[in-house]
This record gives sequence, C-alpha cells and structure tokens, in this order.
Amino acid sequence: MGSGKTDADAGTPAGVRAGAGRDVHAGADEELRADASAGVEAALRAGAGAGVRAGATGLPGAGVRAGAGAGRSPRPDVVVVGGGLIGLVTAWRAAGAGLSVAVVDPAPGGGAASVAAGMLAPVTELHHGEEALLDLNLASARRYPDFVAELAEHAEDGVGYRACGTLAVALDADDRALLRESHLSQRQCGLAAEWLTGRECRRLEPMLAPGVRGGLRVDGDHQVDPRRLTAALLAGCVRAGVTLVRREASALLVSGDRAAGVRLADGDQLHAGQTVLAGGSRSGRLAGLPPEVAVPVRPVKGQILRLRDLPGLPPLLGRTVRAVVRGEQVYLVPRENGELVLGATSEERGWDTSVTAGGVYQLLRDAHELLPGITELPLVETRAGLRPTTPDNGPLLGPTALPGLQMATGHHRNGVLLAPITGETLAATLTGGEPPDQARPFHPGRFTGAGAHAGAGGPGNAGASTGASPLARAGRSSEVSA
Ligand SMILES: Cc1cc2nc3c(=O)[nH]c(=O)nc-3n(C[C@H](O)[C@H](O)[C@H](O)COP(=O)(O)OP(=O)(O)OC[C@H]3O[C@@H](n4cnc5c(N)ncnc54)[C@H](O)[C@@H]3O)c2cc1C
Repeated sequence: MGSGKTDADAGTPAGVRAGAGRDVHAGADEELRADASAGVEAALRAGAGAGVRAGATGLPGAGVRAGAGAGRSPRPDVVVVGGGLIGLVTAWRAAGAGLSVAVVDPAPGGGAASVAAGMLAPVTELHHGEEALLDLNLASARRYPDFVAELAEHAEDGVGYRACGTLAVALDADDRALLRESHLSQRQCGLAAEWLTGRECRRLEPMLAPGVRGGLRVDGDHQVDPRRLTAALLAGCVRAGVTLVRREASALLVSGDRAAGVRLADGDQLHAGQTVLAGGSRSGRLAGLPPEVAVPVRPVKGQILRLRDLPGLPPLLGRTVRAVVRGEQVYLVPRENGELVLGATSEERGWDTSVTAGGVYQLLRDAHELLPGITELPLVETRAGLRPTTPDNGPLLGPTALPGLQMATGHHRNGVLLAPITGETLAATLTGGEPPDQARPFHPGRFTGAGAHAGAGGPGNAGASTGASPLARAGRSSEVSA
C-alpha cells in the first residue's frame, strides 16, 4: 500500500482530497475483461466502478438497491479495499443486503487464507484475557453450518467443512500441566472439553506417538478448507454482481468530512458512498488515513507445510490434532481429500514471507514427535503467510471515526473462523443497522478511545471507552498457533 505519490504524501493531514484525478471508467473494465470469465464480464460491465463525485448519495446505506446484484449504479455504494477472505465475505454479504459493491485488489481470492490451515477452533484457541474474543469466535462458529450451506451453490465440491473435532495432546509433564491449565480456563468459560489419558488419546487416534501423556477431546472445534472457501466467496461475489477491480488502492479519498472512495495506484479514482478497509496485514499502509483513524495492524508471519496421505492407505489422522511441544504450538489438520496440513510458526518478522529451513525443521521435528508416521508422507508444499494482528488479537469491525469509512481487518489467527460473523457485522453496519452483540467490543475506535458503537469498550474491558484488553495493556504477547 501507499506506493503511489499522493496528496497525503505531500502532507495533506486529513486524507487525499477527492476530485484531483481521473475517475474509473472503461479502464477498469478493460483490465477486468482480459481475465474475467464470460459470466463475470457481463457483471463487470454492468457494475464497473465508473467514478462519480463523492457526496452524491451522502449517508451510509443510501443508494440501497432492490435485490442483490442489480448492480447498475453509476458508482458503487461500497468500495472494499482488499479481496482476501475478509474483503470477499464483506462484499458478498453487503451485496446480499442490496448494496452495489466494488472490491479493489490486484489478486482477489489470495492473501492469508491461501496459506491458512482452516481450523475453526474457538475452544482450543482460547487464551487468557481473550474472553470477549471467545464470545465472538463461538458466535461465528455457530454460524458456520448455515454459512457453508449458503455457499454450497458456489462450490461444486463443497468447501471442505468437517465437524470432525480436535484432540489437543501433551507429550511431557510440562506440556500436560499447560494443557491442564487450558482445560481449567475452558471449563470456567463453560466450554465442552473432556480430559483423556494417553491411552484414551491413542484409542481415538492410533497413529499418535506412544509418548503422548494425555489430552483434551474437543468435539466442537471443526475445520474448513480456506482455499475452497475463498474460491466459493469469489464466485458468490461475482454472482451477486460485485465488481472486481484488479488494481492496487494507493490512498483513501476524503471529501468534506467523509471518506469518498480510493485513489488507485495509477492515479484513477474510485468513488463510493462508503469505503471498507479490508487490506489484511497491509491495512494500515493505505495513504491518506486521517490521524483520528488508527489502524494498529501488524503482520505476524506463519510458516506452514502440506503433506499428502499415501495412496491406498488409510489417513494417519481422523481429526485435528494439536499440541504444545517444548513450548511451541504445532497442529495437524487432516482434510478429506488426503491433504495433511502441518502448521504453523509464529514470527514477528515484518513483511518477510520466506520459507526458512529453520521453520520447516521446527514444524517437522515437533510433528514427528507427535505423529512419527508423517516422515513417510510426501511433503507437497511449503508456504508462509502474514496474519493481520492487532495489539489485543481481536479484529477491527465496523465504522471508524471518519464518516463513510469502515474496517474489517485485524483477524489475526482467527480470520477463517470469523468470516461468517464479519460478513454479517459489516452488512449490518453498512446498511445503518446494529452489529451483533458479540461484535460490539471490536469496534475500530477502541485503540484511540473513539467508541463507534454506543456503550462499547474494548474486548477485554467491557463498558469502558478506551484502549486495548488487559492482556495487551500488560504488554504480554499472545501464544499464537493458527
Ligand atoms: C500460517 C497461517 C495459518 C492460519 N490458520 C488459521 C486457522 O487455522 N484458522 C483461522 O481462522 N485463521 C487462520 N489464519 C488466519 C487467517 O488466514 C487470516 O486471519 C485471514 O485470512 C485474513 O484475511 P484478510 O482478508 O483480512 O487479509 P489477507 O488475507 O491478508 O487479504 C488482504 C487482501 O488485501 C489486499 N490488499 C492489501 N492492500 C491493498 C491495497 N492497497 N489495494 C488493494 N488490495 C490490497 C491484498 O492483496 C490481499 O488480497 C492463519 C493465517 C496464517 C498465516
């Protein structure tokens, strides 16, 4: 982000003023026609981001159209910056709510979800001080069956949703003590998790190492294939008439006291009634964001491996298995198609996405202690991705201090899990409605003291109007696993 020279670069304090460049007309269409399918093409021609000056419709939700995908607006009601999993679910739900929507992204459907494991794990992802996030995670997990059913028409072979459960195991006394602590927290939060002996763990998953000392059976933590999910959302967006503008946004446009769309890297402008920032870990790099709109999102690198079951042999695992090995998190997620996902490191390395020998070694070493048979499997892929992470590990959802600008970013290790509730929240706030209760603590103003939803505090600080959760205030780093 921010690669283009903008007014903001030259010191304009409150964003890039709208009106200085060309509006997007046929140019975006041409580009899109080149790589869009025939069906997509028609939708793009109809709804393409033909720019119209900001301020034509005014208030959020103005310009709501009858029926999804009607899409012949001279400018979109909403422009979403970022077409990763979160931008796409936002666009899909907004279009379903009757808004005309454009997504700006040079490579929509990519991003962290093309790397992610796809664990839907509110219970085994519970960390101390993140109880509000737990509520959000649980609310989203509950929505998953309906969410994937709705997406089924856009995914011929499904999205790999498996309600197969998770087994969290310990290999030594220290790991077991840690797992006991987790179990206590889970029970205090009223979550279902059953303590098993090592033998009981191996009865469930016979290929586990004989050294497994005990574990937690969590039947409520499921999985989905994030690549197939993203592909289905992209198809759903196209079907709903969402315009895909395959370009980089360089700056936010501001007209009067409102966000007015974005300037694209080539200088064109795309105007919209409302703008949603969904740029993942790069969200804070968009130029022109005014000082009152903080985007405290940083990248947290994760390296991950994909192995494949041997043909003709039964899969090594029937459910997700995870563990803390010598203090490091490791997990194995078996897909129905024979893929076994092994993740993931958690590294503060800025924008680096290289796969390192050390990362691969650590993952294989720890997974081998858990499941010795993995050394027989073909290693088919090594990848690294960036988790968009906030100081309290919770997402930024909904309106900001700048009218016309909303956020859907900062989902850290739970972006796949949080897709359904994120889409629902943004569809509500973009049409002037109320977000679900569980999303209220995650308003974007919590790090600047600007409460966007009445009475909302931070996720760890319900009722107050300032700052991060106790976890973040205490300066403790989170244990990251997904
Ligand atoms: C190794 C790993 C494992 C994970 N495992 C899990 C898991 O098991 N379960 C789970 O729930 N979550 C998991 N996650 C987290 C999850 O993948 C992310 O939270 C989620 O995918 C973030 O999606 P996003 O759309 O917000 O961001 P991204 O995926 O980063 O997408 C952002 C998009 O915005 C675009 N963009 C950015 N800036 C601009 C701009 N200026 N102009 C135009 N486009 C722009 C980018 O091109 C990109 O396509 C994992 C992540 C990693 C890295």
